Amino acid sequence: MVKAIVGANWGDEGKGKITDLLANDSDIVIRFQGGANAGHTIINEHGRFALHLMPSGVCHENIVNIIGNGVALDINKFIAEYNDICSQGLKPKLMVSDRVQVIMPYHVDFDKFEEERLGGKAFGSTKSGIAPFFSDKYAKIGFQVSELFDPDTLREKIGRVLEIKNALLVNLYHKDPIDADELTKEMLRQGELIKPFVADTQSFLYEAVKAGKNILLEGQLGSMKDPDMGIYPMVTSSSTLAGYGAVGAGIPPYEIKKIICVTKAYSSAVGAGAFVSEILDEDKAKELRDRGGDKGEYGATTGRPRRVGWFDAVATRYGCRVQGATDVALTNIDVLGYLDEIPVCVGYEIDGKVTKDFPNPALLSKAKPVFEKLPGWKSDIRGFTEFDKLPREAQDYVKFVEEQTGVHVSIVSTGPKREEIIRR
Ligand code: GDP
Repeated sequence: MVKAIVGANWGDEGKGKITDLLANDSDIVIRFQGGANAGHTIINEHGRFALHLMPSGVCHENIVNIIGNGVALDINKFIAEYNDICSQGLKPKLMVSDRVQVIMPYHVDFDKFEEERLGGKAFGSTKSGIAPFFSDKYAKIGFQVSELFDPDTLREKIGRVLEIKNALLVNLYHKDPIDADELTKEMLRQGELIKPFVADTQSFLYEAVKAGKNILLEGQLGSMKDPDMGIYPMVTSSSTLAGYGAVGAGIPPYEIKKIICVTKAYSSAVGAGAFVSEILDEDKAKELRDRGGDKGEYGATTGRPRRVGWFDAVATRYGCRVQGATDVALTNIDVLGYLDEIPVCVGYEIDGKVTKDFPNPALLSKAKPVFEKLPGWKSDIRGFTEFDKLPREAQDYVKFVEEQTGVHVSIVSTGPKREEIIRR
């Protein structure tokens, strides 16, 4: 069976932990979009892993982990992460699609230069080269990994692409042009490093699906960051939706039977863009930020503080809907144990009218939150594993999420560790 684990919100919902948990019964875990720009944190008996590019099954040695064709592959980061995992005593099984495209060094440079150029209007990019990479992919001047294995055609294509890149570098960003021979040498070096992992993963998956293997599609970020359904243009550059899992991995869409949408008991977001339920009082925000997650709500890749807010029922209902959620996994409920009352956003007020429907991005900037308060449970529920043992107010909070999203909450996470989990 093929399952997808995806985010309902702005990312950082705790997908890594849920994937690590469900990876237990999986044969294959696949990353199908995004790149090394977001991070998952996984804590298990082997240690604490901040994974940026690697699928979350890498901590299970019996699982085949695949970087699907839909990913932006940064080879240097892949190798660094691989070596790091190996140095912690693990031997992950990894395959990289022969159709995946690679991040070129200039993608990272352009990402940085463009954010500098935009100044106050910047997107808050992680500067991993993702936006320039996907622009090039769809402008058909990207490089599939297999193109790194033939020096002559690679040199010729790099020469052609650099005509465009150097014109921009010199004239728009006022930087030095790139030397085609040096870049070719570097990409051939990267090609050699990645070659042992490269395979026809599409055929491999075709056989795996036929054989009834358990396959997990692992999404990065969440619905709000999808280029079509999210808060455009403050989105990422590849689809974050389960539906794209079929394309970015190479699996028939009708094979995805379960879509587990992960959401947190509160909200967090990185980067700029509308965030209606954001906590604007800096002291209150800091309190939640420092209590959140495993080591506070600070980016796994960048270390930057995340914006935090209360649970947003409007955004989460919509987020689950566009994912096609069959299940919800609610994480970080333990974090809210310090509150007497828990505000939750149940509507958006736009031009004096309250709506429960998530608006399109043009209207979103006008939306003001309508909060309700739910009773807190004022106790530490970290590590609880049985729903019935939760304080009544915490049970009601889970049921509230269920009612608001219209989707069964089948998993409740009560702490960052694998075993801190309730299954319903
Ligand atoms: P992802 O990108 O969706 O996997 O999310 P991140 O890993 O960036 O952020 C989730 C953070 O919450 C990580 O630090 C996790 O260790 C942590 N986490 C996950 N589930 C729980 C939970 O139920 N409770 C607490 N306190 N932390 C959690």
